[in-house]
Amino acid sequence: VTTDGLEAACPGCQVRLPALEAPQHPYMACSPACWVRYGDLLAVQYADPRRMAFHQIVVDTYAVQHPDGDDPRAIQSVGIHLMTLCLFLERGANPSLGTRLHRRMVDRPVFHQLDSPSPRGKLTMLDVPLEGDPELARAASYAWADDVWKSWQTHHPTVREWVASSGFGLQA
Ligand SMILES: [Zn+2]
Repeated sequence: VTTDGLEAACPGCQVRLPALEAPQHPYMACSPACWVRYGDLLAVQYADPRRMAFHQIVVDTYAVQHPDGDDPRAIQSVGIHLMTLCLFLERGANPSLGTRLHRRMVDRPVFHQLDSPSPRGKLTMLDVPLEGDPELARAASYAWADDVWKSWQTHHPTVREWVASSGFGLQA
């Protein structure tokens, strides 16, 4: 349901979209309109196996761009998604392994809450095209991921330690 066309900035990624009245995500700080638009991107991803090959990058980046305080689910989400971003961006891990990596991280949690940086990058999901060549969408997703990951720079050493102590080491 649109209210009156007014734009509202997302508290997570700052995108400005026409305000919507829609349910809030339980543990991500996103505007209802941002969450709905993210759903459109996910739908496009799920519909194309070539996009699914890098899908985890999209999910991780969105999550760490929308951290939400000390809800235990938020802490777990941010911790896990930062760890996989580290593996993908710094170790060249294959995003199609993402689900398996996450399962291991949930089973052996090593993370704790981090103070989230602000702002968290300049790029947003709006920079990932919904149509066209999946390779362009892949490149755009990696650029977005890289931008948001860099915004967490002060926590990179901690995340790298988490990755190492989860047993992923250098082989991941
Ligand atoms: Zn957002």
